[in-house]
Order: sequence, then C-alpha cells, then structure tokens
Amino acid sequence: MKLLSGKIALIFGIANKRSIAWGIAQAFQQHGAQVGFSYAGKALERRVKPLAESIGVGFVESCDVSSDEEIASIADKAKDTFGQIDILVHAIGFANKDELQGNYYNTSREGFHVAMDISVYSFTALAKAFQPMLRPGGALLTLSYNGGDRVTPNYNVMGIAKAALEASTRYLAYDFGPQNVRVNAISAGPVRTLAAAGVSGFKTMYRQFTEFAPLQQEITIEDIGNTAVYLCSDLAAKTTGEVVFVDSGYNILGVPAPREKNIDEQG
Ligand code: NAD
Repeated sequence: MKLLSGKIALIFGIANKRSIAWGIAQAFQQHGAQVGFSYAGKALERRVKPLAESIGVGFVESCDVSSDEEIASIADKAKDTFGQIDILVHAIGFANKDELQGNYYNTSREGFHVAMDISVYSFTALAKAFQPMLRPGGALLTLSYNGGDRVTPNYNVMGIAKAALEASTRYLAYDFGPQNVRVNAISAGPVRTLAAAGVSGFKTMYRQFTEFAPLQQEITIEDIGNTAVYLCSDLAAKTTGEVVFVDSGYNILGVPAPREKNIDEQG
C-alpha cells in the first residue's frame, strides 16, 4: 500500500547517502510521493545532484537556511514549480565542532547563536515561508535527539538546541492546527552521518548503543524513513506536536547497562 500517493514533499538536509534526509526521501518515493530536495550550498552539489538523479528527482535547489533571502528564494522556486506542497522535512542541524566536546558551560555566545539559528530557528523560518503553499492535510517534520531531554556528554549546545526544537514543534503544531497541517518530530537514535561525526565520543556511544537498547538493534536511515512516511501520511491524521522516538527503545532506560543473561539462559 502506498501511503503518500499524490503528495508533494520538499526535503531539506541531504548531504550524502548517509544522511537521514536521504533515507526519508527514498521512503517517501517508495510510497508514491513526488519529492524535491534542498541542500546547504555549492560545496554539496556534486554529492546531492547524482543522488537526486538516481531516483529521478528534478527539483534540487541550494538553500543556506541561515539566510532569510535564500529561504524566500527557495519558497518562490517551489511555488513556481509545484504551486502547493503537502510535506516539508527539516533534517538540518549544525554546531561548531569546538562546542561538541568538554563541558557545556564553555559554550561560546557565538557558538550558542549558530547552533540555535541553524538547528532551531530555521525550522520556524521554513514553516513561515512555506505556510501559504501548504495544502490542508499536510505535514511538517523535523529531526531531534534524546540529548534534548537527557544529558548526553559532549552533545552540549546541540542538546539545548534540540530541546528548543521540540518546543518549537509544539508551538508550530498549535499555529498550523487551524490550517489542518500537522507538525511533528522524530527523535532518532544514533546514525553514522556527517553531523554525528562532529560530536566528540560519538563512535564509542554508537558502539555501546546496541548493548543497552531494549531492541538491541542499530537505527538505520530506512527505519527513520518509514516512521517519517507514517507521520506525514493520513494514517497519522490526528497526531500533531509529538516527538516520536525511533531509537530501539533506548529512551525508556533509567540506567543504561549491558544486559545480564536471563536466569533461563544461565543454565
Ligand atoms: P547530515 O550531516 O547528513 O545532515 C545534516 C544536514 O544539515 C546536512 O545536509 C547539512 O548540509 C545541513 N545543514 C547544516 N547547516 C546548514 C545550513 N546553514 N543550511 C542548510 N542546511 C544546512 O546528518 P544527519 O545525521 O542526517 O542530520 C539530520 C538531522 O538529524 C539533524 O537535525 C541531526 O541533528 C538529526 N539527528 C541525527 C542523529 C544521528 O545520530 N545522526 C540522531 C538524531 C537526530
């Protein structure tokens, strides 16, 4: 069954084939959506264009979301190309590498602003720019991480940004409710992407993850893509302002610890 037939989706945040946005794009297409891409700037073009071509995506536009002019420009281009859209995915996050290590209190004022601007404000700015062309029944989706709820060493200012992003999701859900547009977030477990590589200690955390998580399974971009399909489809027609975990259940743990053998297994 195709869950997104006839829907048009714009996906922000593809950097390469490891990107969560790429997993979402593929899942959307498999479910019948017409997809358009946006990427951060010229430097990524040679990676993103071939990916777009490989699945027949024609709308591939650069947009640095720290620029109001570039956001306005991509919204105009989308309007010219599609008229209206049904889905917008924000899979964008950034903090300077220096901020993603050591004590949180060392966060610089500039580093705080950059993380909040690109990782949080941009979702609100995109929502505003695309508001006039979002069809009723549509959906906005962003990507969060449990570091916004619980302390995750080295994640630092990105944790603060994710908490603010999740609060933005709820406020946007309220604003867009009368338009019958839903706004949700997926809080994903660790995936080896460019953004994740910037967080000090990520590799160790990633290695331990499957030892602790209830499902004992890694998170793939396909897993996240599938949940994104659900959240942006009519199956989730009455779900808005939510943060849905795709993390093999890791967030339910009070004390993450290696699993002891069951009494039955001990023999
Ligand atoms: P990624 O590096 O593939 O994607 C991050 C994207 O943000 C890139 O495409 C990058 O170009 C884009 N970006 C950064 N600055 C930008 C700007 N100024 N303008 C436009 N785009 C900009 O990594 P990812 O892991 O796929 O990240 C996608 C989202 O998922 C992020 O919000 C990230 O925090 C979140 N997330 C990632 C993980 C993980 O473990 N990888 C877990 C939970 C949530």
